[in-house]
Amino acid sequence: MIHIAKPFIGEEEKQLVMEVLNSGMLAQGPKVAALEKAFAEACGVKHAVATSSGTTALHIALLAHGIGPGDEVITTPFTFIASANSILFTGAKPVFVDIEPDTFNINPAQVEAAVTPRTKAILPVHLYGYVCDMDALQAIADKHNLAIIEDACQAVGATYHGKKAGSFGTGTFSLYATKNIMSGEGGMITTDDDHIAEQCKLIRSHGMRVRYYHDRLGYNFRMSDLHAAIGLAQIGRLADFTAARQANAAYLNEHITAAVTPTVKPGYEHVWHQYTIRLDGGRDRDAAVQQLNDAGIGTGIFYPVPAHQQGYLRELVGEVHLPVAEQLAQEVISLPVHPQVSGADLNQIVEEVNKL
Ligand SMILES: *Cc1c(COP(=O)(O)O)cnc(C)c1O
Repeated sequence: MIHIAKPFIGEEEKQLVMEVLNSGMLAQGPKVAALEKAFAEACGVKHAVATSSGTTALHIALLAHGIGPGDEVITTPFTFIASANSILFTGAKPVFVDIEPDTFNINPAQVEAAVTPRTKAILPVHLYGYVCDMDALQAIADKHNLAIIEDACQAVGATYHGKKAGSFGTGTFSLYATKNIMSGEGGMITTDDDHIAEQCKLIRSHGMRVRYYHDRLGYNFRMSDLHAAIGLAQIGRLADFTAARQANAAYLNEHITAAVTPTVKPGYEHVWHQYTIRLDGGRDRDAAVQQLNDAGIGTGIFYPVPAHQQGYLRELVGEVHLPVAEQLAQEVISLPVHPQVSGADLNQIVEEVNKL
């Protein structure tokens, strides 16, 4: 079976974890600080704040921007549920708008139309590793004085006109085991803003600046040094991992003929967290997935149900119709593209996909 995801764990990961174990200091410490420094450099930002997950990174980032009850945050429904849940955790309301059919990302024209006096922020998701149309979103944010909190959980290293994901607004990343680089579980917030960075650090650790003196309500959303050790080894591999994903995606794009392949517009560098084809025209996706799996090709459906159609969110936002997201949710199939997919694997994937 060619798996849809396969974490790479090398000697350096093991060695750095052993260093932490041998030090006897397992909680947030020097490895977290070193990972934050390397991550900030990789994203071209002043600050990176490590967290326990991508979900807690999103939650903290929204709180650091003062978002709470009575506020609205405009986001995409075509994403992992954490993007929407993090808005709910603050007491704010997610407002879902439709996506662009060619990029799978939030449609800026629809964002503009959804702004109300209660809107406080836009939460774009750089889905599959492809940055949203940030010029258009920034213009809307500037016009209406909105914060931008980027869900860059799938997009570490991706660029838009040379600028890195996570450097447009306040960035949030996941280091979950199957992401482009990982720490088992973990997350990161990126920002150039000193005040936001400070608030993020406070919220991450019970609002505590001086031990047992608490400036504000906070949580325990810290990363451990054990996790940071894995992340440190991985961030050293980021450039190689990204190049391997890009080479794999280029091969698939060139050779797959029996489905709609993903597009990359000029000015964008895609990092291919997922390589996602579409079976358009009402073709039977379940049968296609079965056929591929039977032939040893792992697949993923990201995501089968858009957020606005999940039961508890539907109760909250009412009957919202977002036709592009709803249609693409029926059509997408992601194929293995990770760095451990070999040339022989790629041949086999192409051969089986082109039989569909
Ligand atoms: C993975 C992911 C998250 C959440 O990250 P966790 O580390 O699993 O909490 C949020 N948004 C998107 C788009 C993701 O892919």
